Amino acid sequence: VSIRSNGLSFLMFYRENMEGALTARDRVGIQDFVLLDETTEAAFLSNLKKRFSKDLIYTYIGTLLVSVNPYKELDIYNKKQMDIYMGVNFFELPPHIYALADNAYHTMLTEFNNHFILISGESGAGKTEASKKILQYYAVSCPSTTLLNTVRDKMLMSNPVLEAFGNAKTLKNDNSSRFGKYMDIQFDGQGDAVGGHILNYLLEKSRVVHQNHGERNFHIFYQLVEGGSDDLLHQLGLERGCQHYNYLTQGQCAIVQSINDKNDWKTVKNALQIINFDETVIASVLHLGNVRFDSDSKGHALLNNNTELHWVSNLLGVDAHRLQEGLTFRKIEAKKDQVLSPFTTDHAIYARDALAKAIYGQTFTWLVNRINESMENKDPSRKTVIGLLDIYGFEVFYVNSFEQFCINYCNEKLQQLFIELTLKSEQEEYEAEGIEWEPVQFFNNKIICDLIEEKHRGIISLLDEECLRPGDATDLTFLERLEEKMGNHPHFVTHKLADKMTRKTLERGDFRLLHYAGEVTYCVVGFLDKNNDLLYRNIKDLMCQSKNDIVKECFSSMDPDSRRRPETVVTQFKSSLQKLTEILMAKEAWYIRCLKSNESKQSGQFDEALIRHQVKYLGLMEHLRVRRAGFAYRRKYDVFLKRYKPLCPATWPHWRGVAADGVEVLVQHLGYLPDEYKMGRTKIFIRHPRTLFATEDAYEK
Ligand code: ATP
Ligand code: MG
Repeated sequence: VSIRSNGLSFLMFYRENMEGALTARDRVGIQDFVLLDETTEAAFLSNLKKRFSKDLIYTYIGTLLVSVNPYKELDIYNKKQMDIYMGVNFFELPPHIYALADNAYHTMLTEFNNHFILISGESGAGKTEASKKILQYYAVSCPSTTLLNTVRDKMLMSNPVLEAFGNAKTLKNDNSSRFGKYMDIQFDGQGDAVGGHILNYLLEKSRVVHQNHGERNFHIFYQLVEGGSDDLLHQLGLERGCQHYNYLTQGQCAIVQSINDKNDWKTVKNALQIINFDETVIASVLHLGNVRFDSDSKGHALLNNNTELHWVSNLLGVDAHRLQEGLTFRKIEAKKDQVLSPFTTDHAIYARDALAKAIYGQTFTWLVNRINESMENKDPSRKTVIGLLDIYGFEVFYVNSFEQFCINYCNEKLQQLFIELTLKSEQEEYEAEGIEWEPVQFFNNKIICDLIEEKHRGIISLLDEECLRPGDATDLTFLERLEEKMGNHPHFVTHKLADKMTRKTLERGDFRLLHYAGEVTYCVVGFLDKNNDLLYRNIKDLMCQSKNDIVKECFSSMDPDSRRRPETVVTQFKSSLQKLTEILMAKEAWYIRCLKSNESKQSGQFDEALIRHQVKYLGLMEHLRVRRAGFAYRRKYDVFLKRYKPLCPATWPHWRGVAADGVEVLVQHLGYLPDEYKMGRTKIFIRHPRTLFATEDAYEK
């Protein structure tokens, strides 16, 4: 039974915690922050720390789940645990991610509506792990009445594939998601998982051709060259070992202790076979990275040697001569003629990298489409969904570029959604109900979202304008425009202002944003190119004629209207986030807030300063205060009356009149004191749980 339609489990929980639970409380802390004696940050952190030291990584704030990354395997994710949480009311057992998953599921079944689980937190906080735990819970625990296990298997299988292609080692996280993922799990009326659908968001393609020191390319490349069989590597013209490939060695950390590429390859290979993917495309990217150019006496690019190029053309199924031409010449259409204009080596490298990124990016989309086809629900007549959102977390590196700008913008949007759906709506409910109370101050990050995305005035608009402006637009002219237009914004720090504000000085070419989660200095180098994401037309045309089905399909579906200039990367991203917000707003929300316990990925380390910072910016204290400030319990008048009317002769068996009046009569009869409750427009609000315990006790008697 849903806790929303029935307050009972909520009551039982309170009872257990309030009465005689002091000893347990001393031992393991409090399971729900709402029950803390005081709502100070110190009390919050001390409770979190106490629980963390006992390996209790989950704590509630009402129905929101706070999770602290333990950086070690805990024995709490097995079938036995799943069974314990299955169908049990939310607050009756210790906090667990299964409890949240189960509650969303049962609410969906009883109320027949759609839900989503928003998992947020910075890079390395545990979002992807959390989403996998939830998916496993549904795959294992939901009843299976049909042969539909295949859909479940495919849902589970999608994880290793998408992680292999979309995750990479970064300085923050050895398995960092470099794309955003929203997955709908579709259930039929019996609660059987019958289908799934994935929406993917902006993959960090630049990683294919460049990695910063201490980072890797996407896992799949290493898995292939480490784990692929001799035969396979031979067929693909690949050597064993990542050291042979330029695209794999720039970060100088190909081998990572926590990652076993060989083993991972086995899992991924099996999964890839199911969707008929073959490795040629991946191999072609590795060969492309080894294509080198020399320059002739005029500075024009010349291919250094033909072997790699031939492998690329072989694997991609395109003509080698035309490929070479595409990488070293630009085709210019002059009136009716076509002129070939030679590239410099820099241009040739740019064209090569652009092709590698395009192949990889398109392949990723192709994979998502294939996985979606395999999970498609064949009978969509009666279905409800639970959506799982797992996106790249907020990140700050020593050098931050266009990718971090997009990722952090996305996190601003999700924080905004959270504020809209919780803090604001909770306060608005009090207002709408005409209930007096002390408003809670919270930081609304809308101001930063506007700074970034406002039409005609935001950073995105200025970036697009520079990208579309013919002539001399460069990254630096973009920065100048920013400084000119944003100079006075409280969340924007320019080069000129940095010194005045005695903040860390900015290098030329940098701008700084004061995000909700902290300051980030962005280096503008590459912003225009990455946002334009141009692939030379002759190369694209060539790919469309490929004999390799996957390549052909991928490139033919790319921007079908070739006359129009494609939308810039950031604008596409902005509209996809807008659509995502709409999808989420139409569903009932559940939240998991993941906290990173320390920066060194060590188990047992609770870095208090780091956690305090996250607690602050995630708005957890505000969330707690809003939950606590007013009233612990609220119910619509008719629901409340329906349950408790037997307790009063005047309301039993029927109350003939307005429900609110009936409730008033009822609670007067029960002896509620004026301070203990408030009558809103449509609901009764009860300040303290103990008032309701007494009523519930009377009801049971
Ligand atoms: P990003 O934004 O970079 O994708 P993320 O929030 O998705 O980060 P995860 O990849 O889920 O982070 O977690 C990082 C690492 O932390 C995992 O690879 C795992 O080692 C560890 N970890 C996270 N959650 C748990 C957990 N519940 N139990 C054990 N280890 C965990
Ligand atoms: Mg992740």
